[in-house]
Amino acid sequence: MTASPIRPITYWDGTPVPWITGWTAETIPPQTLTVHHGRGGTGLGFLEEDSPTDRQHDVLWPRMPATRGGRPDFATVHALRQRQAMSRLLCQMCGGPTLCSRSDERTLFLVGSAGGRPIEEGERTDAPPVHAVCARLAVEHCPPLRRGWAAALVSYTPVWGVAGLLYHPQTLDQLPVADPSGMHHVAFTDGRRLRWTLAVRLLVTLEGVTAVTDLDLLAEEESGALRLSL
Ligand SMILES: [Zn+2]
Repeated sequence: MTASPIRPITYWDGTPVPWITGWTAETIPPQTLTVHHGRGGTGLGFLEEDSPTDRQHDVLWPRMPATRGGRPDFATVHALRQRQAMSRLLCQMCGGPTLCSRSDERTLFLVGSAGGRPIEEGERTDAPPVHAVCARLAVEHCPPLRRGWAAALVSYTPVWGVAGLLYHPQTLDQLPVADPSGMHHVAFTDGRRLRWTLAVRLLVTLEGVTAVTDLDLLAEEESGALRLSL
């Protein structure tokens, strides 16, 4: 018998804590930046770099604990769990795999949308997928989603690039950013800027998008599909 892909969700003071949320004990230790001479040329690196760990998708990521200790900090997203969730299509709420939760192999995505704007074809996102039953829980408890949300079933999720901090090649000063998220979006095709980026989010594009408005119906379909697969 296969284990259910829907994992138990951690609660804090009666509120579900998304799997990708950062916790206060997961502080990033100081990591001195330096110029790194490696595959693909010169770029940003750590003074004591361990490239197989610190570089994923050919870009530098902060090294950080993943202990879920202390208390949840709902305003932060844990860079490592976000990347794992996005690259393996794990549920952002419970951390379980989403691919086997539907018979048609499409994946559910859920984003905050206070203005009611739907998810568009080809849209870029840093929000990993979600099970239907976990999405229902999220829209009930997550304050940004309670102000409005949009959901869609998505056929393909090709990786696009990363969001992160961009550094000046000579001074290693952080370059200013106009985006309110405080992060630069850098495509994997933009090798010149990618070399000077410290990535904190993996971004994908959503292709083959079908809008979803009834999460209850979707959750029923999901439990039906799971019953068949178990
Ligand atoms: Zn889930």
